[in-house]
Amino acid sequence: MNREASIKELREQSEIVWDVLVIGGGATGLGVALDSASRGYKTLLLEQSDFAKGTSSRSTKLVHGGVRYMAQGDLLLVMEALHERGLMLKNAPHLTSDQEFVITVYSLWEAIMYTIGLKFYDLMAGRLSMGKSYFISRNNTLGRLPQLIPEGLKGGVVYHDGQFDDSRMALALAQSCVEEGGLVLNYFKVTGLLKNDNGQISGVIANEATSGEEFSIKANLVINATGVFADDIARMDNPRSKPTIKPSHGVHIVLDKSFLHSSSAIMIPKTDDGRVLFAIPWYDEVVVGTTDTPLDAISLEPIALEKEINFILHTAEKYLVKPPHRKDILCIFAGLRPLAANPDNPASTKEVSRRHKITLSPSGLLTIIGGKWTTYRRMAEETIDKAIKSGFLEKRKCVTSTLKLTTLMINNSSSRLIIYGEGLYEIEKIISENPELGNPIDARLPYSGAEIVWICRNEMPFSIEDVMARRTRALFLNARVSSEVAPEVARLMAKELGLDVKWQEEQVTLYNKLISNYL
Ligand SMILES: Cc1cc2nc3c(=O)[nH]c(=O)nc-3n(C[C@H](O)[C@H](O)[C@H](O)COP(=O)(O)OP(=O)(O)OC[C@H]3O[C@@H](n4cnc5c(N)ncnc54)[C@H](O)[C@@H]3O)c2cc1C
Repeated sequence: MNREASIKELREQSEIVWDVLVIGGGATGLGVALDSASRGYKTLLLEQSDFAKGTSSRSTKLVHGGVRYMAQGDLLLVMEALHERGLMLKNAPHLTSDQEFVITVYSLWEAIMYTIGLKFYDLMAGRLSMGKSYFISRNNTLGRLPQLIPEGLKGGVVYHDGQFDDSRMALALAQSCVEEGGLVLNYFKVTGLLKNDNGQISGVIANEATSGEEFSIKANLVINATGVFADDIARMDNPRSKPTIKPSHGVHIVLDKSFLHSSSAIMIPKTDDGRVLFAIPWYDEVVVGTTDTPLDAISLEPIALEKEINFILHTAEKYLVKPPHRKDILCIFAGLRPLAANPDNPASTKEVSRRHKITLSPSGLLTIIGGKWTTYRRMAEETIDKAIKSGFLEKRKCVTSTLKLTTLMINNSSSRLIIYGEGLYEIEKIISENPELGNPIDARLPYSGAEIVWICRNEMPFSIEDVMARRTRALFLNARVSSEVAPEVARLMAKELGLDVKWQEEQVTLYNKLISNYL
């Protein structure tokens, strides 16, 4: 992935008509672009900000069927997601892992209900099951979760789901799309749609962020995969189009691993206000969340509400021996669920389906909204199939169910650098040529200078934030420490990308301003 070369290619091919042009570089758009490119269609993806800047870097990081949706009776969604969970673990083993969860139970009725329910969850996964679920005694539960408050505890139910690094997965999809012949560009905002004499969409107008240069790009099919922003694109097509998205805010906090002190995750199935709360080990810390607050305003940089943070802290304090306080929080992150609105009950998000929705406008804008990270592949397959059925593309078979996002050769590596796929070898080479770059950028973060250098050469970062938030997860793991190392990251980036001291200073100022949103 090379931004300058890609922009040059776009400029040189200005007369080309793309088969598929995808707007939006989150899980949905990148999944669609990869599906399209791997079927051999000429594919371009444009992202207004950075890949996964929106919701796709702010998830709970679970590759899951959704125990909660099973409780709500949405069995088809759970079954589909469990199947996709299995495929994601097979096709991206370097970014996904098996995570053991323990549901805490406080009565015989809960013990029976969750044991049976989770047996059913296993069965629904079929041959892609991740391991059996079973009831464990009170002592066994406390052995696995030594930080759990023992009062009233009757035992636990163990089950397995997948866990992943969401923004690194997004980058792996972008990289794979390029490997399959597609072109992906970040910091390219679509500002309008082109239409032919028949009123049919024939391409887009897009602006490149650094120069403001405007591009008119022709395409046979334009796909709107912009998550919570999908209605903005729909209004470019038809200014009178009705809202289809009901956004919902979800907040997580990150705490030091000592608060959980376990490799097992806790799942609290019913908090005081009827929600689910997870405390999950992630890298070397613990992610706790989430909330579900209906919102009207949408933003690329949503900020957690104080009441959401307090809700998480107060709930965690009821279950954890060491109660977390505001000052213990390493990072707070908020994301917006792009839920498909229920036209009969527009105010609610609880009853709004978590399923995705694909629609085709009379002028040919294909829109995909809703869904989950876990089901991105299936959503993409259905979107391209719909385009074929609607006559936009010639028929070709989907190949992503077995498409590996990295080569099998590196699957056995236990190196932490495996998150960069085959980049692992190049990073090792950078370190062997310049051993100083092998040192961590800070003892409290797991990243080395060599990783920053490799990222600059291969993953199109544009700002310190791109490196800290999505290519590494430094911002999410420890916002304050990430701010302390910002000048050093800026220096490494400037050296690689040929930028001056002024750029470094501006970037550090911008980054320090940004991190207040995460504290
Ligand atoms: C709190 C929370 C927790 C979640 N946890 C999980 C989980 O554990 N597991 C799971 O499977 N799912 C989870 N999800 C769901 C999952 O994260 C989302 O379904 C998924 O990330 C949505 O991806 P998307 O691509 O549709 O949207 P986004 O990631 O928001 O991407 C849309 C992109 O479109 C771009 N865009 C908008 N307008 C334009 C334009 N004009 N031009 C160019 N680009 C544009 C935006 O910049 C953005 O990057 C969670 C969601 C939330 C909110």
